[in-house]
Amino acid sequence: MVSEPTPAELAGKTLKALVAQKLSPTPENYVRLYAEISGKEISLPVAPLSGITADPAEVRPPLAWAALIRELFRQLDLPHKGITLSRKKEGVNTVLTRFGNDSDLLYEKMQGLMRSWGSGVVASGEIAGSAEHGTPVSSAPVAGGMDMAIDPVVMAHLRDLLAQTLESNKLLQPELGEEINTLVTQIRTAINGDQVTDVAKKLRHFWVKMELRGGDKVKIQEGLLSLLRLLVENVGELVADDKWLHGQISILRDIMEQPLDKRSIADAEKNLRDALVKQSSLKQSLANAKDTLKSLMASFIDRMGEMTESTGDYQAKIEGYNLKIGLADNLTELGHILEDLMQDTRVIQANTLRSHEELVVARRQAVEAQEKIRLLEQELEQVSELVREDQLTGTLNRRGMEDVLQREITRSNRAQSPLCIGLLDIDNFKLFNDLLGHKAGDMALMHVSETIKAALRPTDAVARYGGEEFLLVLPATHIQEGADILQRLQRLLVQKLFVYDGEEIIITFSAGVAMRGQNETAEEAIGRADQAMYQAKAAGKNRVVKAEA
Ligand code: GH3
Ligand code: MG
Ligand code: MG
Repeated sequence: MVSEPTPAELAGKTLKALVAQKLSPTPENYVRLYAEISGKEISLPVAPLSGITADPAEVRPPLAWAALIRELFRQLDLPHKGITLSRKKEGVNTVLTRFGNDSDLLYEKMQGLMRSWGSGVVASGEIAGSAEHGTPVSSAPVAGGMDMAIDPVVMAHLRDLLAQTLESNKLLQPELGEEINTLVTQIRTAINGDQVTDVAKKLRHFWVKMELRGGDKVKIQEGLLSLLRLLVENVGELVADDKWLHGQISILRDIMEQPLDKRSIADAEKNLRDALVKQSSLKQSLANAKDTLKSLMASFIDRMGEMTESTGDYQAKIEGYNLKIGLADNLTELGHILEDLMQDTRVIQANTLRSHEELVVARRQAVEAQEKIRLLEQELEQVSELVREDQLTGTLNRRGMEDVLQREITRSNRAQSPLCIGLLDIDNFKLFNDLLGHKAGDMALMHVSETIKAALRPTDAVARYGGEEFLLVLPATHIQEGADILQRLQRLLVQKLFVYDGEEIIITFSAGVAMRGQNETAEEAIGRADQAMYQAKAAGKNRVVKAEA
């Protein structure tokens, strides 16, 4: 059968529990823990340590019951923080039940009970002022009772436990370390009533201070929690896209919204740690990703820079090339320009990967354009070869003349029709140029050609044979007819004078006419006409000479 623990054992357990739970060794905490452990409501003696050093020889004054009962009524009516009236009555009832048989103990316990309701309320002066008792209740030495029953060895343990409890507070509140050390020394060395009373008084002050500090601690804890909340919110901000973390954070927030207790704080802390670990790994990944992105951006920007630079340069060059192409008048030069252009294009290709394809296309287009230009050039050349007219006078050029001669010879041969060739050379044209200028000479050439063209038949043709020489192809024309035509032209030029700078100028020419003989070539006929023309010159100019057959 397990025996009931003695009060001393219960007291020891209570103090151990105080230490274990790191609670401030206040009377209230002691009473509460003692009640939890023993299952009995108790109250502490006025001076808990007094029994340790109580002198048995000390004479006890008579108990002031009237004062105590009056005080009890007063205390029951007074408001005490955290202690309701029913609680007080319960306490009184417990004390009466437990210590009712021992008037001394009852007196003492009742005093203790009242003291437990609030320090200083059972003030010494009030009770001391009672008529029935001359001794203050609070300072009354408590002899015997519960404390007197405690074994000195157990008491030594209690002293140690109290000292340890105090010392444990040094860990929580190191700033009070010095004060705690002093108190512990005093507890261990207190040997007489005065010393014990002094230590008890100091302990009470110390507990009050501890409670105040405890208030600070609550504030600190609240501050830390708000910091934690802030951190959690920031974590949410930092990695807002992480579902896992979001889940953890909402759990954490829920916990923190609840009234806090040790377990929920521990849970919150654990969750936060997990969140932080996760966040730190995410941060690392994020940092890596950012670095990658940064280097990508850097190379992208570099590439862009190169591109802008080269394309800007390229644009400028293209403009340059446009100008050069505009000025270039031959394929070789164009070829060189295009080569340069291609070289630049290749440089840009090397620098700009993005525009690679576009540049390849551009290059192909350039090559195609080059080929097109070459073809156009060729075509242009062929076209100029095909031009049959003299640019200045609008008469046939040599090529045109040859074609006409060929055609008319064929026709003459087929039709057995005469074909006359007339060749005229402007008289003294060198002098004309010298006197009136080359421009006037050009205009004179135009005037002569227009007069000739206008006077000839549609089947006739006129060609610029040389500088100021014209060849006439007169189909179906006999030699005399030919000479007549040329002479008519001479008359026309006299009739229709050339006007230059307000001045009328007579233009004359010398001409030779030859009728193509059978099987005679164009050149042979022209040669004879030419000889006739020289004869006209030689004869004094401004005349027409018929070539001998
Ligand atoms: P002649 O009476 O003996 O023919 O004397 P000429 O001065 O006409 O003889 P020549 O053949 O020596 O000189 C021909 C001149 O015609 C020389 C040249 O300056 C001029 N001439 C030839 N082609 C053109 C042309 O297209 N425009 C001009 N303005 N002058 C030309
Ligand atoms: Mg001439
Ligand atoms: Mg001449």
